[in-house]
Amino acid sequence: MSGGFLLSCLGGNICIMLVPIFTLKLSHKINPRMVTVGKFDGVHPCLTAATQAGKVFIHNPHTRAQKPASHRLSQSTQDSDISLLNINHAVTCLTAGTLGPNAAGDTLLVGSQTNLLAYDVHDNTDIFYKEVSDGANAIVLGKLGDIPNPLAIIGGNCALQGFDSLGNDLFWTVTGDNVRSLVLCDFTGDGKNELLVGSEDFDIRVFKEDELVSEMTENETVTSLCHMHSSRFGYALANGTVGVYDRNSRYWRIKSKNHAMSIHAFDLNADGVVELITGWSNGKIDARSDRTGEVIFRDNFSSSVAGVVEGDYRLDGQKQLICASVEGEVRGYLPAGKELKGNLMDSSAEQDLIRELSHRRQNLLLELRNYEENAKGVSDSTGGIPANTQLQTALSVRAATEVQKAHVELSITTPNETIIRAVLIFAEGIFEGESHVVHPSVQNLSGCVRVPIIPPKDVPVDLHVKAFVGGKTSTQFHVFEITRQLPRFSMYDIAIDPSAPPPTGRVTFTINDRPQRVAMWLNQNFLLPEGVDTPDVTFSSLRGGGLLSIGMTANGQITLQTDDIDLAGDLVQSLASFLAIEELSAEADFPTYFEELQTTLTEVDEFHAVHQKLTAEMADHSNYIKNMLVQAEDARLMGDMTSMKKRYRELYDLNRDLVSEYKIRSNNHNALLACLKSVNQAIQRAGRLRLGKPKNQVISACRDAIKSNNVSALLRVMRAGVSAS
Ligand code: CA
Ligand code: CA
Repeated sequence: MSGGFLLSCLGGNICIMLVPIFTLKLSHKINPRMVTVGKFDGVHPCLTAATQAGKVFIHNPHTRAQKPASHRLSQSTQDSDISLLNINHAVTCLTAGTLGPNAAGDTLLVGSQTNLLAYDVHDNTDIFYKEVSDGANAIVLGKLGDIPNPLAIIGGNCALQGFDSLGNDLFWTVTGDNVRSLVLCDFTGDGKNELLVGSEDFDIRVFKEDELVSEMTENETVTSLCHMHSSRFGYALANGTVGVYDRNSRYWRIKSKNHAMSIHAFDLNADGVVELITGWSNGKIDARSDRTGEVIFRDNFSSSVAGVVEGDYRLDGQKQLICASVEGEVRGYLPAGKELKGNLMDSSAEQDLIRELSHRRQNLLLELRNYEENAKGVSDSTGGIPANTQLQTALSVRAATEVQKAHVELSITTPNETIIRAVLIFAEGIFEGESHVVHPSVQNLSGCVRVPIIPPKDVPVDLHVKAFVGGKTSTQFHVFEITRQLPRFSMYDIAIDPSAPPPTGRVTFTINDRPQRVAMWLNQNFLLPEGVDTPDVTFSSLRGGGLLSIGMTANGQITLQTDDIDLAGDLVQSLASFLAIEELSAEADFPTYFEELQTTLTEVDEFHAVHQKLTAEMADHSNYIKNMLVQAEDARLMGDMTSMKKRYRELYDLNRDLVSEYKIRSNNHNALLACLKSVNQAIQRAGRLRLGKPKNQVISACRDAIKSNNVSALLRVMRAGVSAS
């Protein structure tokens, strides 16, 4: 039966492969994820990419007019179609597009850990060159919310910053961790773009201008984002996962052992819907259906893919998908013509499909045989289990013991004499490799399996459980499948030790809701076996974070006491979302944390001072070097070898000093970056204790305080919010 099905299915296919329409071998290596296409004269698309040693190359095969060399732009000596742009810093991101309202061509934007350059390639001039203290790990160019002009938005050290064509920063806000990927798309469907931010704390956050409107938690660093169509977008994680979301629900995802280097949306089979194109670290390119993740096309490069972009590189009005490898190999693919009928798979991919289908057939035959055996042997109980067998699951909090860390226990039981042979649990971000198998030894078989679970973060997680149930001597088992949700705050136990020191940190706010609703929120979000009927509860953190007390007064004032400001923010956000509160102001104090912040701010000042001093010294030294070189050269010309040797020895010593000074400078810079990151994080944390307008006001007031170097104003805003100050 299945053999016949296979044949008829394959008979309908015509094996034509989609082949590259052009290939290039550039003589420059390409930095991963730093590839773009820009029409810098408004007409001719140029592949542009960061290469080694702080340079950007611009490939322009269309116009041969040589540009006059400038302090930045020079001609590549290896390739006449390539111009090299000098950045002098290691490039961390780049993009090209419309920035200026009146510019004829695209603007090139190049980010580094310290600066953002907007460059007019056509006129060979800087548009602006800005110092950016939070660095630029990712960049996106386009319109955001109601801001009339396009912005170049960079994401760095916990901060987001957007510049217009004049270099004014019209947009700034903070986010939870280092930003790794950005994309603009109309997430809410109101015709205006939101900013999607992927970061190292595994979150994808959605900003409507500077207001956070949605948050999706993934289980690894979000390394790439790309807009597909309407509110649908693709994403890639550092662990080899790629997938597609529509708003905040995930459509599909797949996980590979390779890394997804670049993702891009492109309609390769010309059916009017874009596919998700992924370039992988092993050189593979694949195109997947936006709806199902099914592969419709594959190709291979001999080295890791660096970037996937698109452009009309042949100037014939049709866009090509352009893929570039780290070794400088470039291939362009045209969307499939009618003769391919959307069938882009080459024969080897088709063989993969046959292999997969026959594997599936094998498994089904095996399953069928099992059922037949079972049907024969109903009476001898080899596989049959009582009809009333049902799987029961329970979650409970277990405090730390001498042999085991504190954890949440998932117990899985059968109600009768049947035993559980094995349990397979699938849960995102909890087990290494996402799944966990429990397989008790034969002498320990019973109707109950207990699995310790330690969620690393306070996020709700679905536990997908498969249990193999049968008789004690069975060789075949029934598989039960159950999904159980682990509540968000499951790593907190009702506190039994009243002598533990009370937390000094707290946040206080007032709500217009009944205490019963707050109790309902507690019952849904914590593991409370007995349940609670008042909002006044004290928990102790199983992760060792001390006590958490929740209290509510008769007039609706809620106080959360904890020393963990992140936990306080999570609780405020969770409760507000449960009660559908959109605007909330709060008063807060986290004495220990604010003290640390004050120390950090003093350190920032010190590092800035050292930085300035070192920069001045370096300028002095380079003048000194110039003089000494001139003197050494003069000595050589006059045949005075003794003086020449002396000068060169001095130069050697000076060089050694310079190298060690450079190390100090670089350490100083890294320490400064770490401090700035924690300052941005503190602002974000202070914001998360509020919602809506009060939150945005706190964030922008904090930034003003930082700008004017007013530490006491900063702490006042963090404590009291804006309305009260
Ligand atoms: Ca929108
Ligand atoms: Ca398509």
